[in-house]
Amino acid sequence: MRLVNLRDFGRGNYRQLDDYAFGSGGMVLAAPQLKDALDSVTKEAGAKPYVVYPSPQGALVSQEMIETLALQENVAIICGHYEGIDERFVQKYVDLEVSIGDCVLTGGEIPAMLILDAMSRLVPGVVGKSRAVIEDSFYRGMLDNPNYTRPAMWEGVKVPEVLTGGNAQEISRWRRREAVRRTLTRRPDLVSRASAREYVSGVNVAVIAVNEAVNLSGLAEICRAYGAGRPYIVAEHRELREAMKREYPGAKIIGSVRKLIREETLTVKVSEAARINAVHSLEVKRMCLEHGGNILFVFAQDDEVLDGLDGITGYLFAESAGLPLDVRVGTALDRLLGKR
Ligand code: SAM
Repeated sequence: MRLVNLRDFGRGNYRQLDDYAFGSGGMVLAAPQLKDALDSVTKEAGAKPYVVYPSPQGALVSQEMIETLALQENVAIICGHYEGIDERFVQKYVDLEVSIGDCVLTGGEIPAMLILDAMSRLVPGVVGKSRAVIEDSFYRGMLDNPNYTRPAMWEGVKVPEVLTGGNAQEISRWRRREAVRRTLTRRPDLVSRASAREYVSGVNVAVIAVNEAVNLSGLAEICRAYGAGRPYIVAEHRELREAMKREYPGAKIIGSVRKLIREETLTVKVSEAARINAVHSLEVKRMCLEHGGNILFVFAQDDEVLDGLDGITGYLFAESAGLPLDVRVGTALDRLLGKR
């Protein structure tokens, strides 16, 4: 990291950086001096850096923004002061205007430190355990679980028993459940950004086939990418089943989807259009998180087949009806489970 003193680029005897704002009279950092400072950084780096201007008028800072910044070769953060910086400089050279919240500070230095600190946590080795970063709030689009340390009893309050019991599987289930509980009660708005797959124990996909061809290898790849098991192809009629077995040797071809539905399974029938009693895809995602156990997503080449099955009907968007089945499954898994 290099600290650039804007004063080195000031003009005149007083190394002036600011001037009166036209119309209001407050002080504003002037564009030519800022440009000189940026040019010196560009020269040193060999290319124009990605320029960030912390400003109360910017987009609210987020983990996604920080991850984007961490991927840039060079980032320059320009700290404003007084009334801010000349708008022409912002328009011409600033790539991202970012606010740290709906309050006004005297200068951009503290926001710059915040951005730097959040970026540095993503540099391998900065945080001792890389898993800790992944499990932190926002990394998976969720809040972290609550944490406890010794003593196990303090001021009459005990650490949750599961954490001192030593059963790694139960601890991990508890942590997942608590993270979900916190997120859904404190920040339900995060659900759309969440990688829900991490918070449910298992995902299966079943496709009720009719006579159309299925791109089975594409479908299997998509399921794998989203952490779902190999897809089941459901063919009710024996002849179709036999034909599919011949065409897709090794595929999981079964006669009825009911075989896959257990009491603890949340069955989501994925349909394209909103219809009576259907559930918005974001609501389905929330329900999957709340459920936390096994989820079975059922797709059909012909939507009406879904009506005879128990479970909730989640819908995507009407235009998806024309998409090939494997694309529809990919879209649905992305919406319903999310991948950040
Ligand atoms: N006149 C500006 C306005 O109302 O939008 C406020 C300028 S502020 C007093 C001075 C500088 O502090 C800004 O140029 C910016 O760099 C920084 N700053 C203040 N509040 C900030 C916030 N919430 N987020 C990011 N930067 C902030």
